[in-house]
Amino acid sequence: MWSLLSTSEGLFVRRIREGTVIDHITAGRSLHVVRLLGLEGSNYTMAIVMNVDSRKLGRKDIVKVEGLFLNSEQISKISLIAPNATLNIIKDGLVVIKQKVKPPDIIEGILRCPNLSCITRKEGEFVKSKMRLVSTNPLIYQCIYCGTYIGEDDIVEMLLST
Ligand SMILES: [Zn+2]
Repeated sequence: MWSLLSTSEGLFVRRIREGTVIDHITAGRSLHVVRLLGLEGSNYTMAIVMNVDSRKLGRKDIVKVEGLFLNSEQISKISLIAPNATLNIIKDGLVVIKQKVKPPDIIEGILRCPNLSCITRKEGEFVKSKMRLVSTNPLIYQCIYCGTYIGEDDIVEMLLST
């Protein structure tokens, strides 16, 4: 079944007329992406393709959503759980923009510092979390206030639980 999807992939991509194709998603993360974008239970027409052969990644997932265009916060979030993802913006059946996501050097407010005594975690303090990118592969961020590190698995878990 998967190989059938894989061979018809080109055709499948072209079927979107207006919307976004999120390609090169880390294999196994497509449902995370769907959840992260709040698309679960939505009315969007979408296709989720899993475990497609990829020269670059070995295996990859793809999510195609008709009529969806992402804002910068959504793109940042995708970059945190699928750092190799490529966004293809489709208009009138053509790819008008192809953009590789990139984990932001500084990320504000999206991640929570894992250190409970960090100033950003204190009740009554209104200090927004702020983390700096330490490494892309593996993905590691560091809180600029207390120095605590957070790695990819924890980031994925955190994003999916909020
Ligand atoms: Zn902190």
